[in-house]
Amino acid sequence: MTEEFKIPKPLPVPSEDSKPFWDACQKQELLLQKCTDCGFYRFPPSILCPRCMSADFHRIKASGKARIFSYQVTHQAFYPAWETPYAVAIVELDEGPRLHTNITGCKIEDIHIDMPVELVFEKVEEQDWYLPRFKPVSKKTGKSNRK
Ligand SMILES: [Zn+2]
Repeated sequence: MTEEFKIPKPLPVPSEDSKPFWDACQKQELLLQKCTDCGFYRFPPSILCPRCMSADFHRIKASGKARIFSYQVTHQAFYPAWETPYAVAIVELDEGPRLHTNITGCKIEDIHIDMPVELVFEKVEEQDWYLPRFKPVSKKTGKSNRK
C-alpha cells in the first residue's frame, strides 16, 4: 500500500494589522474594525481610516450576513491542494465591507449575484485552522440581509 502524498493548503500569513482578525477567525468570529471617529467599517484591517484618516478604532463582531457582490467559478486547479470546481466570491457584508471568500454548501450552478449568504467557518483539517466562508442563507435563519 502506498500512502497518498497530500499537499497542504496554503494558509493566510497574518500581518501585525491582520493578526487580530485571523485570531478571531480561529474562535469562529469575524471581526471588523470600526472607526471611532466617523463610524466607517474598515476592511481589510488598517492603521488609518480611509475615510477620515483617524487611527482610532474598535473591533466589532460582524453579523455574518451578506450578499454575493460578484463571483467566479474555477475549473482548473491552479494549486494542487485545491479541489475543483470551486467558487471564489466577493461578498458584501451587511455592515458594508466587501471581502473575498469561497461559497460553500450549495451547487456551483445555484450561485448567483445578490444571493443572500451567511458566514460559516470551515476548518482546514490538516492544519487546524478556520477560514471564513459563506453559504446560502438557510430557511431557518432566513430573513436578514438588507435589500
Ligand atoms: Zn473614520
